[in-house]
Amino acid sequence: MKIIILGAPGAGKGTQATKISEKYGIVHISTGDIFRANIKGGTEIGKLAKSYIDAGKLVPDSVTCDIVKDRLTKDDVKDGYLLDGFPRSLFQAEELSKFDDIDICLNLEVDTSLIMDRICGRRMCACGESYHVSTLGGKTTCAKCGNELYVRDDDNPATVKSRLDTYNVMTAPLIAYYAAQNKLVTVVCGTKTPDEVFAAVCDALDSFGK
Ligand code: ADP
Ligand code: ZN
Repeated sequence: MKIIILGAPGAGKGTQATKISEKYGIVHISTGDIFRANIKGGTEIGKLAKSYIDAGKLVPDSVTCDIVKDRLTKDDVKDGYLLDGFPRSLFQAEELSKFDDIDICLNLEVDTSLIMDRICGRRMCACGESYHVSTLGGKTTCAKCGNELYVRDDDNPATVKSRLDTYNVMTAPLIAYYAAQNKLVTVVCGTKTPDEVFAAVCDALDSFGK
């Protein structure tokens, strides 16, 4: 199964992608994670990507498309993959279609009025877990692994606003693009908990094409 996961920033793509990859046994590839690892490692790609990420803009296609193409040539994606954060524009979708055919585009629909609070209150752990300040009760460490939690550099109001604009202009047109190919599956997140969203996602994926 080759899946793309689409959604505005803060829709919970990363959380759902992790759960999907565990349940269905497919590799989770997140372009955001790849860029953040490069920034942490101080690579040339990381240095270039950082200015765009901090501004809430898309990292140039010349860099992003090559990273994804290269990743999709590895052995572990032969039986399927879950792309999280790519494609993020019609151009990227066309590029992807030149070297692979995806089966499903899973669209997580989230109420935009919730996004600012969700993202700005988000606390991350290096283990991949994430929390919201409102449920931490003042704790600053991860309940799973004990590591100190941190705030992503791009999770501040100015950058979130720009990420949302970028999403609306560049990424949202992909919804119609994949709908026209009969590949779109939309799950409305509303006020559901991550587990409730995941149950709806599994239902949608399992019944797709049946
Ligand atoms: P979110 O969806 O919550 O905004 P991501 O971790 O997916 O977070 O992406 C963080 C940032 O990384 C984006 O705002 C963008 O700058 C960059 N990025 C990720 N994927 C892509 C992509 N496919 N093309 C261009 N830039 C990307
Ligand atoms: Zn942790």
